[in-house]
Amino acid sequence: MACPSCDLIYDMSGLKDGDRANCHRCGHRLTTYRADELHRVIAYGSSALIMLLLSCSFPFLSFKASGLESVITLPQTVYKLWLNNMPDLAVLVGAFILGVPALVLGMMIWMAVHLIRKQPHPWLPLVGRIVFTLQAWSMVEVFFIGVLVSLVKIAKMATVVMGVSFWSYGAFFILFTMTLATLDRYQCWRRIDALESSDVKHEVKDADR
Ligand SMILES: [Zn+2]
Repeated sequence: MACPSCDLIYDMSGLKDGDRANCHRCGHRLTTYRADELHRVIAYGSSALIMLLLSCSFPFLSFKASGLESVITLPQTVYKLWLNNMPDLAVLVGAFILGVPALVLGMMIWMAVHLIRKQPHPWLPLVGRIVFTLQAWSMVEVFFIGVLVSLVKIAKMATVVMGVSFWSYGAFFILFTMTLATLDRYQCWRRIDALESSDVKHEVKDADR
């Protein structure tokens, strides 16, 4: 592979479980090889999806001030923007904090299942490209840190109670980051290429027969 940072070419064969390769010229992390990488992606990814489902089903935050209480759920944070005449912002927030992360996780699990089963699929390269492109467009951490910062300000005006959703979204944020960090870009493409070339070989053999 070529170093993504300085283009120096490396031979990546012969990496063992747990090995990490860094570029010796610029120090860029090239790849980490883990034999159980795909199983970890499925474990973290499915746990993250369950946490995301939980965080959409229970109260996210509740505010109490002068005898009045207001409870908000995670989907309502998006819906309230829509009601306040900000449909474009509502769509963007909904996509970046719920839609894109759920789509990325679903696609990563689908890809990992096919690669573990060594089951070639014509969509694998396309799904791989979408997953690695969309990763940059999920704003889970930005949203969560934004909520924490605004909580500090709101806490002076009202009593804030964090609901079940708040903690499950926090767990989702950690599990989602772990899933993204586990899937190594180079190893993933190497596995897809190996699967595709074995598929082509099978087809050639079948044609010879
Ligand atoms: Zn380099």
